[in-house]
Amino acid sequence: MALIVQKYGGTSVGSTDRIKNVARRVAKWKNAGHDVVVVVSAMSGETNRLIDLAQAIQSIPDPRELDVVCSTGEQVTIGLLCMALIELGCPAKSYTGAQIRVLTDDAHTKARILDIDKDRIQDDLNSGKVIVVAGFQGVDAEGNITTLGRGGSDTSGVAIAAVLGAKECQIYTDVDGVYTTDPRVVPNARRLKTVTFEEMLEMASLGSKVLQIRSVEFAGKYRVRLRVLSSLTDPDLSIDEESQSGTLITFEDDGTMEAALVSGIAFNRDEAKVTMRGVPDTPGIAFKILDPIAKANIEVDVIVQNVGTDKKTDFSFTVHRNDLNKTLDILKPVQADIGAQDLVGDDKICKLGLVGVGMRSHVGVASKMFAALANEGVNIQMVSTSEIKITAVIDEKYMELAVRALHQAFELE
Ligand code: ADP
Ligand code: ASP
Ligand code: MG
Repeated sequence: MALIVQKYGGTSVGSTDRIKNVARRVAKWKNAGHDVVVVVSAMSGETNRLIDLAQAIQSIPDPRELDVVCSTGEQVTIGLLCMALIELGCPAKSYTGAQIRVLTDDAHTKARILDIDKDRIQDDLNSGKVIVVAGFQGVDAEGNITTLGRGGSDTSGVAIAAVLGAKECQIYTDVDGVYTTDPRVVPNARRLKTVTFEEMLEMASLGSKVLQIRSVEFAGKYRVRLRVLSSLTDPDLSIDEESQSGTLITFEDDGTMEAALVSGIAFNRDEAKVTMRGVPDTPGIAFKILDPIAKANIEVDVIVQNVGTDKKTDFSFTVHRNDLNKTLDILKPVQADIGAQDLVGDDKICKLGLVGVGMRSHVGVASKMFAALANEGVNIQMVSTSEIKITAVIDEKYMELAVRALHQAFELE
């Protein structure tokens, strides 16, 4: 008997029938003697619908009010799931993020969790109830409702598992684990039985949305045992079988096996490239460009600077697509101030990357990657590398071609 946190994503609670199936699965774990805390997302499509409603009223919605609107999707699913559990004779109680005081900072629409009041959950668990918590949402110190960024229910789940000291945080989703790449793009992608925490972090940072990056960071910081598994299997599957299924995120690369050179390929179309051309090549320029962006709470990713022969450089970096216009607005006065020739944004890019702890001990991964892309006529616009990751920015129209070519070149099938 142990405490388990289970998180169910949008597809898993996408209809009342699916919610009833989730209830059967949860009741199975509870009846086997476990304490269970469940974290749920909104029904699939619901958060998008709520954002569309907000944008129909205000093209750039007020962030505080957007959070008030967007957080309602999860409030529906917690209530429905509790009803389904009660119907099965399994006592259950729902809580919104504010009710269990998932305390966050005040960065509306991308708030960070600071603390969670575990006493209330613990009291209910002691009285034998299943606790169902709304993911994706919290409350700031002033009592304002906040949300944690798209895909944030993963982070709610892992954070709750961390404060409660759960034995495992199980992320139930619409695929049966973490694959070598998105199985919807490469049908012969292979499920990984285990993936190291470091690799998962890099894959999430490259935009493989199976886990939100902050959830992986939390799992690393608090050593939460994390497993990704399917909610679409038979809900009455035996506990033994289910607890071995999916993909386990491991902390140790135990060194007993030769690590694969490349474990996975991740990619996303969520970013845009910003380039300032003809920037005077003097100390402090990168700071002048990036500091106002950081102050506006905009995350910057791949950064590339090319120094020309005429003491001028081209300075490029990527930001989230939603932040592109804001970034350009912020940089217009900076461009004038530093006397740069040109400022351009490109939102037709894709970022993709190879990830693998095996890269540490091998050379030539980058050249093999570039050769595979060149063979397909794919031009690389930006590159960055870390110990276990190589990232490239390419034209988005080549995304699927490039991912398939790399999957084949590194024999990931
Ligand atoms: P949920 O609603 O359960 O949170 P998401 O849609 O956020 O689910 O994440 C699951 C999706 O992640 C899958 O349907 C799959 O298309 C996508 N995905 C991207 N990369 C991977 C990968 N490497 N392995 C598995 N799924 C991936
Ligand atoms: N419902 C939120 C979203 O769609 C949070 C989540 O699903 O994790 O982004
Ligand atoms: Mg998700």
